[in-house]
Amino acid sequence: YDTDIKDLQQIEELGNGTCGHVVKMKHIPSSEIIAVKQMRRTGNTVETKRILMDIEVNESHDCPYIVQCIGCIITEAEVWICMELMAMCFDKLLKRLKQPIPEHILGKVTVATVKALAYLKDNCDIIHRDVKPSNILLDERGNVKLCDFGISGRLVDSMAATRGAGCTAYLAPERIEINPDHPDYDIRADVWSLGITLVELATGVFPYQDCKTDFEVLAKVVDQDPPKLPEDKEFSKEFRSFVECCLIKDQQQRPKYVKLKEEPFYKNYETVDVNVGRWFAAAMHPGEPRRQMKSPQVSQLRKVFH
Ligand code: ADP
Ligand code: MG
Repeated sequence: YDTDIKDLQQIEELGNGTCGHVVKMKHIPSSEIIAVKQMRRTGNTVETKRILMDIEVNESHDCPYIVQCIGCIITEAEVWICMELMAMCFDKLLKRLKQPIPEHILGKVTVATVKALAYLKDNCDIIHRDVKPSNILLDERGNVKLCDFGISGRLVDSMAATRGAGCTAYLAPERIEINPDHPDYDIRADVWSLGITLVELATGVFPYQDCKTDFEVLAKVVDQDPPKLPEDKEFSKEFRSFVECCLIKDQQQRPKYVKLKEEPFYKNYETVDVNVGRWFAAAMHPGEPRRQMKSPQVSQLRKVFH
C-alpha cells in the first residue's frame, strides 16, 4: 500500500473499543472521508493474529454486507485499517433514538447479518464471535453491514489447535466436541448472538441489563430460559419465531444458516423492499425534509490506495 500516514488528517473520534479506536479521517490527496481503525502494536503474537485476521477479512471485497476495507498502513507502533465510512452503528442509533428499532428495519438487519455471517463461513471458514449492535453498521443510503473481525476464529485453526494440544484429558466437553465430525461446531454461537442483538434492538433494552457483573450474565444465560420478544408488544409471529430459533439453548438444536434462511421472517425480508435509508434520515432529522445523501464509491477509494 502506497498511502502514507501523512496523507491522512484526523477529523473526529468515532468510538473506542477493546482493540483500539476508530477515527474519521480525510485522505488529503483525494479529499475522501474514511474511517480508520487505529490499533497499537505490542508485538504480541495473539494480537498480531487478530490484526491480520481483521485485515484479511476486511479484504473480502465481494460481500456487500461486510464493511469494506480500503487499505491498511502498518508502522512500527501501530496498525491502521482504513475502511469505508459508515454513518452509524446500531448501538449508537438505539441510544440516540431512545426507542426500539422497528421490525421492518430489523428484517433488513437480519438478512444483511445472516448473509455476512454465511459469507464468512463459506468463503473464509470464519466464525465472527462478536456479533452485537456496535458491530452492525448503517451507511447514509441505508445499507446494513457487519464489521470487526478482530476476534473472529478460524475453524480450521481451532480444530488443528485442539488436535495438536496433546493432553485431551484436560479439555472441557465442548472443546472435545469441536472435532472432527462437527467442523462448523460453533457458527451457531453467532446465531445466538444475533438473537440477543435482535431482542435488544426490538425492545430497546439489553435482555440481561439487570445483571451487575459479567459473571451474573453468564450464569443467567446458562441457567435461565432464553430471552424472547415480550408478549405484550406488537411483533409478527414470524419475527417471534425467528428470534426463538436463534435463541434455542441447545446448540445442536439451534439452526445453522441454511435452515435459518428458510425461516419465513428471513425469506420475507430477503425480497421485500424496505427503504432503510429514508427511515434512517427521518429518524436522525425528524421534521426535516429528506436531504440528498452521497456516499463515496468504495471501488474509487480503493484506487487511491493501491
Ligand atoms: P466496539 O465495536 O466494541 O464498540 P470498535 O473499536 O470496534 O468498538 O468501534 C468503535 C466505534 O466506532 C463503533 O461503535 C462504531 O460506532 C464506530 N465505527 C467502527 N467502524 C466504523 C466505520 N467503518 N464507519 C463509521 N463508524 C465506525
Ligand atoms: Mg466494533
